[in-house]
Amino acid sequence: MSALFSGIVEKFKKNNQCLSCKYIDSSIVFDCNNKVRLCPYYDIGIINEKFDGIWLDTDKVIKTKEEFVSEFKQNNIPENCKECFNLENKLTCNSNTLKYLYISNWQHCYLNCSYCDSPKEEDLKKVGHYDIFPIIKQLTDSKLLTQETKVIFECGDPCIHPEFDKIIYHFINYEMRNIVINTPAQRFCESVAEAVAKNIAEVIITFDSGCPYVYGLVKGSNKFDIAMANIKKYLSYQEPKEKRVMLKYNIINGINDNQKEILDWFILSRDTGIKKLVIDIDRKWYNQIKYSVPQYLKELLIFAKHISEYNNMEIEFCENALAIYKRISKEEK
Ligand code: SF4
Ligand code: SF4
Repeated sequence: MSALFSGIVEKFKKNNQCLSCKYIDSSIVFDCNNKVRLCPYYDIGIINEKFDGIWLDTDKVIKTKEEFVSEFKQNNIPENCKECFNLENKLTCNSNTLKYLYISNWQHCYLNCSYCDSPKEEDLKKVGHYDIFPIIKQLTDSKLLTQETKVIFECGDPCIHPEFDKIIYHFINYEMRNIVINTPAQRFCESVAEAVAKNIAEVIITFDSGCPYVYGLVKGSNKFDIAMANIKKYLSYQEPKEKRVMLKYNIINGINDNQKEILDWFILSRDTGIKKLVIDIDRKWYNQIKYSVPQYLKELLIFAKHISEYNNMEIEFCENALAIYKRISKEEK
């Protein structure tokens, strides 16, 4: 146990608090290797090593969750959790419903991003694909999913999968309110447009660039115009006061990690009618530099924050970018 981590544990014990994680408390993840687990990031809280999609043992879901919650309470924390910003000193909430549903069991897309760590199509074929719709139906019928559950379709492009529209219409009929769809927008989906129009879905489009040239460098494919056309179509379904169609920028070492590209992305977004931006940092690069973040990267995040504030556009730093931004904010105090 690191000195820092054991110090945190001792402090919590003194205050009668214990460690917890909102995902261990109440999430379920169907991953691209056909595992079912609790943690969205690591193999923690495995419920099924090789799920075949036929029937989910919901008792085992609850039992696994309870076991892990209990381990966390006793400060028996998996190694990967110790540096995770989702680890909190809050009391666990003993919920019998799921707050988060992550779906990436069909992860696949037509692009070839330089930072992509999703499995390629041939690897997915080896793993085999199952239809997730019956399980979603099982989860809604058993009331483990509620209208409040946040459903997250991860990158890949869920929109190209045959079951996708059926699932979105099921969620619309079930009156789900919080659906997040990560997509590179290579296919326009009527079901997603309808969910945006009903204010129950957010679409996060990974764009990573402000011009076709850099888009091609990052995405390994020149489908800039297709993505732009679909973004405009999704925006046409969004109510004027809403911010449900967002453009995302993953900062990648040596490709788009400069102010000019960020500014071009920003202008492109603003002129297209986007009102909310999302920024992250390529995970592999972040893991290399997280203990010694280059000054220019910090300045890039501050720059992005300033131009968005100046233009009255919302910007969200997620995961790796957020970790760095929080550190910058602390240093400034
Ligand atoms: S790695 Fe983070 S998100 Fe995953 S279980 Fe641990 S604390 Fe929770
Ligand atoms: S959009 Fe890019 S990062 Fe996402 S799955 Fe496709 S190739 Fe990978």
